[in-house]
Amino acid sequence: MRVACVGECMMELSERADGTLLRAFGGDTLNTALYLARLGVAADYVTALGDDPWSEEMLEAWRREGIGIGAVRRLPGRMPGLYIIRTDPGGERSFHYWRDSAAARDLFAGPGADATRAALQSYDLVYASGISLSLYGEAGRAALAQTCRAVRERGGRVAFDTNYRPRGWPDREEARRAFRDAMAAADLIFASGEDLAWLFGEAGEAEVLRHRGRSEIVLKGGGPAPSVRVLRGGEDVAVAAAPVGRVVDTTAAGDSFAAAYLAARLNGLEPAEAAACGHRLAGAVIGHRGAVIPRAAMPAMPFA
Ligand code: ADP
Repeated sequence: MRVACVGECMMELSERADGTLLRAFGGDTLNTALYLARLGVAADYVTALGDDPWSEEMLEAWRREGIGIGAVRRLPGRMPGLYIIRTDPGGERSFHYWRDSAAARDLFAGPGADATRAALQSYDLVYASGISLSLYGEAGRAALAQTCRAVRERGGRVAFDTNYRPRGWPDREEARRAFRDAMAAADLIFASGEDLAWLFGEAGEAEVLRHRGRSEIVLKGGGPAPSVRVLRGGEDVAVAAAPVGRVVDTTAAGDSFAAAYLAARLNGLEPAEAAACGHRLAGAVIGHRGAVIPRAAMPAMPFA
């Protein structure tokens, strides 16, 4: 089973009180690829990078984590996107982006895009998020959608995670259209109640639940305690997370949940068991600072 995680990894600079900047890398679907790889799933990251030193460092870091990089496109003269996290004296964080010219945005454009599409079609599972969709524009999204159709015609599957960041979209109507199309084309939908409410208002849950029966759905949030609702066929079960001692940083909670859920399903576990695996990994991830926890902190899984 080979999984392709499609998206963008950006350079992250955190501004410190003295104005110096601390560098890291990050991206939602990259986090999922990383945790999939750690859980023993053959996961590739599918994106475009430049030929600059930071693109090289990203590739090297992914290789060290066991993430497949064979389908990464390199665009000469281009660079990864960049954002700065600024913390005001009250501790409030704000995010500032330079990403319009990021190489990842042209994954499905220009010479070489056909090769990327052909490569993507060979995976057993293609995973993308709402943030991935915001990168490509209408034409790129159409290319991705067509690629996903080809994957399904071959017997592969498509998973979509509804991560929604308003700033990535020209307007909400375009995002709504793209999310509706992506949900309609997905075999498995990870839906965040919060994201759906931002995007569709009160109709958020109904937008995803209209795909019940046809798609497997993991609906996160919506209740007081962290719990997910898992729907497959006529099955509809709630799976609660165990309480976490101390929540340190919720970065990558949803991304790691998706990775453990997918890994469990690919190993033959049932949806409710897979959700328990998702909670277990996400619970460990939110107990640490940053998106990526030390390997030693990875919880044991009933598969792997
Ligand atoms: P995201 O907004 O990144 O999708 P969510 O808030 O939906 O993240 O959380 C994803 C998962 O992280 C939850 O399903 C749960 O497994 C875990 N999680 C998040 N917050 C908590 C918490 N306070 N206690 C236990 N688990 C949590």
